[in-house]
Amino acid sequence: MRLRNVRGSKELLDASEYVLKNPAQFKGKWTEVFENKHPLFIEIGMGKGKFITTLAKQNTEINYLGIEKFSSVLVRGLEKQKELALSNLFFLREDAEYLPNFFEKGEVKRIYLNFSDPWPKDRHAKRRLTSKEYFARYDQVLDADGAVEFKTDNQSLFEFSLEEAELAGWKVIEKTLDLHHSELASKNVMTEYEEKFSLKGNPIFKMIVKRDGKIFG
Ligand code: SAM
Repeated sequence: MRLRNVRGSKELLDASEYVLKNPAQFKGKWTEVFENKHPLFIEIGMGKGKFITTLAKQNTEINYLGIEKFSSVLVRGLEKQKELALSNLFFLREDAEYLPNFFEKGEVKRIYLNFSDPWPKDRHAKRRLTSKEYFARYDQVLDADGAVEFKTDNQSLFEFSLEEAELAGWKVIEKTLDLHHSELASKNVMTEYEEKFSLKGNPIFKMIVKRDGKIFG
């Protein structure tokens, strides 16, 4: 993704109470951060935050954490949250590579991945958020019945993701090759990228995977 450097974004994030610093300190203690025991849903690569802020507004009984590694996009999500002031939404400016440092096993109930970067070169496959290496990280933080939900308009990334999930021992519980015309459409919340690509006429692919109980017990 092409990134425009937004001047002052790092400083704005540093100063914000909605952007939690040093998240390893909250590992195993997220209920204290949110001051309740509601389930924790996270979005990795939240970009400008339309998806997660909409969900947090709709579902006040769920705690949301948006994770984004670049200040210049996260700052747009922060602008939305400053207006909404939702008590069930915080952000981390972090690389998801370190996810297991931030959460205890079972602490996360759902992981959303939306229009993740494709990293088209084979040698970069490990960086894709739906690679088996990332599924191993998700395994370390997700609740036993937890799910990963992924959507994209990139067919080869989608096919790769299905294969990697299965290789890593996850099972596909929902799959559609045309989300906007499927039975999942009514509950769908659009992301910034999704709006852009569906306007061009691209079909949106979606999968929901859970761990196969036989392997992970
Ligand atoms: N999810 C948004 C959407 O659908 O509009 C943004 C999609 S954009 C293509 C992918 C985002 O994921 C970028 O903002 C990028 O910085 C972020 N990202 C990629 N790898 C990441 C990682 N390892 N940890 C955190 N964020 C990541």
